[in-house]
Amino acid sequence: MRIRVLGCSGGIGGALRTTALLVDDDVLIDAGTGVGDLSLESLAKIDHIFVSHSHLDHVTSIPFLVDTVCWMRRAPITVYGIAETLDILRAHLFNWKIWPDFTQIPDAEKPFMVYREVKVGEAVEIRGRRITPLPANHTVPAVGYAIDSGTASLVYSGDTAGTDALWKAVNAMANVKYLIIETAFSNKERDIATASKHLCPETLARELEKMRVAPEVFITHLKPGEGALTMREVGECAGRWRPRMLESNQEFSL
Ligand SMILES: [Zn+2]
Ligand SMILES: [Zn+2]
Repeated sequence: MRIRVLGCSGGIGGALRTTALLVDDDVLIDAGTGVGDLSLESLAKIDHIFVSHSHLDHVTSIPFLVDTVCWMRRAPITVYGIAETLDILRAHLFNWKIWPDFTQIPDAEKPFMVYREVKVGEAVEIRGRRITPLPANHTVPAVGYAIDSGTASLVYSGDTAGTDALWKAVNAMANVKYLIIETAFSNKERDIATASKHLCPETLARELEKMRVAPEVFITHLKPGEGALTMREVGECAGRWRPRMLESNQEFSL
């Protein structure tokens, strides 16, 4: 199994893209602006999209993707999320006002897109790859995901503030090789981080203290223009876990 980072920034500008991970060639974990860099041929191969939460930086490419490739595909694209997230997508995105409801196009019997609800702790298996929603703590209902190849797992936190439930789940996993965890703000913006339920380097360090496994740690969702500052502070606060900055086009083999 290969996982490629299509986007890992908290915003846009220049080469920055918002969050998306491509698992092999058919599964997306979140669908931020990075999805738009894929070729038309690659876009048409995406069958499954796992959404961490409803915020625009994580879902913005779903409407464009479905609209772009629907005529090239025989099967619907499946959008996975917890019930609250799917309700928000139905009510506020695919609502015929912001974008058409592709679960009704061309008709409800054979639509271009379908929703499938997932539950925290319950794995979805797709051709040998197990994708399990993990608890997260954000301003809207949110999850992270563990992606397990059978030999190793990558844990992606999604957007989250401090949480004990995530670590309880992660510490129970036997084969965590990589952890991708957000640090959206620098320490001087700790109040904003707290209010928006994101992490800053000081609170990241407190979270990593709860970890009882030893994966390679990568930092995602850095605010544009503050990446260098935030990573320097991550090094000061959480250096013993040797966190590195996640980069676009980085690949993981599991
Ligand atoms: Zn968010
Ligand atoms: Zn976000």
